Amino acid sequence: MAFKAEYIWVDGTQPTAKLRSKTKIVDSVDDLPIWGFDGSSTNQAPGDKSDCVLKPVFTCPDPIRGGGNVLVLCEVLLIDGTPHPTNTRAACAETAEKFAGQEPIFGIEQEYTFFQDGRPLGFPLGGGFPAPQGGYYCGVGADEVFGRDIVEKHMDLCLQAGLHLSGINAEVMPGQWEFQIGPVGAPQVADELWVARWLLYRVAEDFGVAATLDPKPVKGDWNGAGAHTNFSTNAMREDYKAILTACEALGGEGKVDEHIAGYGADIEHRLTGMHETAPWSEYSYGVSDRGASVRIPWQVEKDGKGYIEDRRPNANCDPYVTTRLIINTCCSALA
Ligand code: ADP
Ligand code: MN
Ligand code: MN
Ligand code: MN
Repeated sequence: MAFKAEYIWVDGTQPTAKLRSKTKIVDSVDDLPIWGFDGSSTNQAPGDKSDCVLKPVFTCPDPIRGGGNVLVLCEVLLIDGTPHPTNTRAACAETAEKFAGQEPIFGIEQEYTFFQDGRPLGFPLGGGFPAPQGGYYCGVGADEVFGRDIVEKHMDLCLQAGLHLSGINAEVMPGQWEFQIGPVGAPQVADELWVARWLLYRVAEDFGVAATLDPKPVKGDWNGAGAHTNFSTNAMREDYKAILTACEALGGEGKVDEHIAGYGADIEHRLTGMHETAPWSEYSYGVSDRGASVRIPWQVEKDGKGYIEDRRPNANCDPYVTTRLIINTCCSALA
């Protein structure tokens, strides 16, 4: 029997990597082989040494093709078997392994924006702007909500693929939406997020719509798009002191710049201090505070345990990098 295995990987485009994929016909989906691609077409190799290696790391049912076909997320290796310089997963897996005893888990809120004909879905056809923000977030009705048919389809596909999708909502700007993946450990949460992004682009393609992770798709008085990253360890899930230790650690010497540098290109365009953000250069944390870098949910303060939300990562962040940074910083402080 012939199956279609869609091999998906993260490329080397700077400053923000793109997803690529191609199909391999296989006799069985139980033991998927390594494969290769032309790295000179993906910003991953020069033309005279173009071969790069695809190593399967996460496989799930292909909910679009169905019928026993699979999606195969891969990491990119050099031909000597070592991680390619653009492979951020290897370091994430190593850090997660080092601190596995603390059982770190993540829930990532992926915001994104639909575009059609060069404007966000729901922006007037002839140019100009829709009514100001206010009614769109979690809205209902054809005057408030744009693209729900794609969002519903994407949600179904993620669930059929077995991803840990935990919800969706319409966002503050028209045409802007969010889905959440988690809570699960790293690097799995990032694997699943990359596959969910691929499914989003792929399903929107069928509607003639582009989904973008641009962190500030419309300049001016319009919300940007983030990837709030919710995080806990076993200690944080039991003890409020550990919650505070993690919050303090994220604001530690050198840590603010290190994290901001790894949280997605053009982060300073989004973290302005307006539109439910804290300025990128000033670290803060607080209970229920959506104007802080890191929010402690009110329920967590009440229960005296739980998780924290790092609100800084951009929509276009690499979740292998964000989760590695958070584990390293917080788990080192909690060790
Ligand atoms: P918000 O109120 O910020 O919009 P969401 O409901 O969109 O929050 O996202 C919260 C995320 O936090 C979800 O992905 C959820 O799975 C995750 N989460 C819940 N509990 C934990 C936990 N203990 N550790 C890590 N993540 C968690
Ligand atoms: Mn949310
Ligand atoms: Mn949101
Ligand atoms: Mn949030």
